[in-house]
Amino acid sequence: MEERSGRELESLLHGMDGKSYGAYKAVRGEWNLPDLHLLVDHVQGDPFAAPSRVRVILDTEVARFPEELFQTDARATGTACHLARRFADVAESPAGGRRKGSGRSGEISIEAPGQEVIPNTAVQLHPDGRVEARFRVGLPARGRRILGSACARLLLETVPELVRRSLCYDALDPDELRLHAETAEDAHWLRDKLREQRLVAFVANGSILPRRSGTDERPLAGDAVVPFRSPAGLRFEFELPNAGAVAGMGIPEGVTLIVGGGYHGKSTLLRSLERGVYGHRPGDGRERVVSDPDAVKIRAEDGRSVSSVDISGFIGELPGRLSTVDFSTPDASGSTSQAAAIVEAMEAGARLLLVDEDTAATNFMIRDRRMQALVPGDREPIIPFVDRVRELYEAHGISSILVIGGSGDYLDVADTVIAMTDFSPSLVTESAREVARQHPTDRRREVPGPLSKPAPRRPVAASLDPSRGRRKVDVRSRGTKEIRFGTEEIDLAAVEQVVSAAQVRALSEAILLARRKLGGTSPTLSELLDRVMAELHSDGLDVLGHGHDGDLALFRRHELAQAINRIRSLRCHTSGESAR
Ligand code: ADP
Ligand code: MG
Repeated sequence: MEERSGRELESLLHGMDGKSYGAYKAVRGEWNLPDLHLLVDHVQGDPFAAPSRVRVILDTEVARFPEELFQTDARATGTACHLARRFADVAESPAGGRRKGSGRSGEISIEAPGQEVIPNTAVQLHPDGRVEARFRVGLPARGRRILGSACARLLLETVPELVRRSLCYDALDPDELRLHAETAEDAHWLRDKLREQRLVAFVANGSILPRRSGTDERPLAGDAVVPFRSPAGLRFEFELPNAGAVAGMGIPEGVTLIVGGGYHGKSTLLRSLERGVYGHRPGDGRERVVSDPDAVKIRAEDGRSVSSVDISGFIGELPGRLSTVDFSTPDASGSTSQAAAIVEAMEAGARLLLVDEDTAATNFMIRDRRMQALVPGDREPIIPFVDRVRELYEAHGISSILVIGGSGDYLDVADTVIAMTDFSPSLVTESAREVARQHPTDRRREVPGPLSKPAPRRPVAASLDPSRGRRKVDVRSRGTKEIRFGTEEIDLAAVEQVVSAAQVRALSEAILLARRKLGGTSPTLSELLDRVMAELHSDGLDVLGHGHDGDLALFRRHELAQAINRIRSLRCHTSGESAR
């Protein structure tokens, strides 16, 4: 596309004044303003529609970021997330866009990251030091008539000023920038170290785990907050590349229980571990809470659909002689949904399962001696998780961290027991063993045979196709928990490690990419995940969507698997069958 000057843009806009809104289409393209490239990728159809998609690119000599701030991927991500939040802050301040005129006229908005530090397309620091920001601008109108001079001011004064104040090194606090880059790098480094130490998670001393509310992810503040402190028996120390020595609680591989009374902070700890697969911004309180990159939250989710999952290792033959070797249902129960979630996580390569009794199916988790006596095994299809959790670790290398306040049966199968009391952890493995000796449960382990590795499933291409008949492909994300996929909804409300609307948007596009990656072949779901993630890794997030979208954030293969597994129309072939 031909590049034109700012002056040309100015006269073009003045010339449009009073014309009907459609004339704005001419603004599309690249404009070479003093100190920045302005690229208008998409012009909104009318002032009430989603605002126009705009990018700015700053050359290295203009942005002037020192190399330390972007020399590793982790540093670049930490810095870029900070720049995006800063851009959002300035855009909302009096220096930002003013809504003036009809519809969304004058609005400037960016998809700024929240507490988590995740690679995204809102602001990117390229390896050569260029800075690119992608955002939306409501091109101004009165009614449906173009406000040309207002638009000229917006694009040629307000936007450049906003960019100068938020994306140029010289206008920013250098210490703060360095902190964002280094914090991201330290967290990445720490997560990388876990496996070497045979740990599945680490929580640094001084971490602040509780959040302000269920809808406010910022750290809880005030005198009542108890900072995290490791019990002596689980204390580990690391020498971080930037922040130096850090001590905290390491959770070893194997089966770990988090026990304790109600309201003592068990779920809060587990939720921090769920989010520990991501980095966090400085000041979040969880900057040095990390967990295994393949940690997957497991929960019951009755009502979800399941397609061809072998849950027979957890659930035997169902009433009506329904086999569970190739189990499909549009409406799973609490226990079958949780069993499916575990098998699907194994299939996608999980190394750590996180389970909270608050969101687990009780009959899936436990079956005590009295129930074993009352309901004979041949009338109970469920093989309780307590009878499989050790095997998951010993035979499959998959660790578990379980919040269990209500069932002592788990004491027999745990390697590590952490008790939360008044928000402080202590290590009680030894006393738990003693209790288990003194109070034997006398229950029998009820397993029909070994838990086998999930049989590969091969998604049927047509079932990943959102278009119906001749109608065109329509996939759209809705907020942080829903994808509109053709005529159906993919409900991600129970997929708790999806943390932003930008991730949902990226997932919705990734399903289409997965569909394309199938081509004429019939890979297993696990191979398909490999293909998509490899392409994202080598070519970046711009392989998704229109190519220059500013509202995409990275996800893990696990989130993609969870989204695909929740497509109601998903059909899979299992081994033996041909997938065509
Ligand atoms: P449990 O799962 O043990 O019942 P929760 O984790 O749900 O307990 O915590 C109960 C309440 O205590 C929540 O409102 C939570 O925000 C708060 N809380 C958790 N940890 C702390 C802490 N370290 N300091 C202060 N409040 C906390
Ligand atoms: Mg709880």
